[in-house]
Amino acid sequence: MNKLKPQCLYKHDKQDHSKTYGHSAKGFILPCCWCDTVNPETDTQLMKLMKEELLLENNNSIEDIIDSPEWNEFYTNITTPENYDKVPKVCKRYCTVNDDGTQKLWKKEFKYGADGKLVKW
Ligand code: SF4
Repeated sequence: MNKLKPQCLYKHDKQDHSKTYGHSAKGFILPCCWCDTVNPETDTQLMKLMKEELLLENNNSIEDIIDSPEWNEFYTNITTPENYDKVPKVCKRYCTVNDDGTQKLWKKEFKYGADGKLVKW
């Protein structure tokens, strides 16, 4: 089973978290800056955090957003190994760990086509 070590939930050195919230140009707060992907619409699980009602401008506080059912589902999924299939692709890419707990070297998964464009993450 693939394992996830969410860097947004783990302490790192003297920081509370390795990764902290991100703010997208489209007006959403996100679990980390990596979630502000170029094509979020290709990641159906990630898009659950980008519903119109979760826009910062449509809420009174950040707590209203991160306490929402969508965010609760997100945190349940990234902390439940059996829910790995429901984890956003971006989280699998950055926060999946090897069996020994070491971080996957996601940069090695970059593939470029003959035209120089990124074809696979
Ligand atoms: S990629 Fe996902 S699991 Fe990893 S730090 Fe960001 S939100 Fe958390």
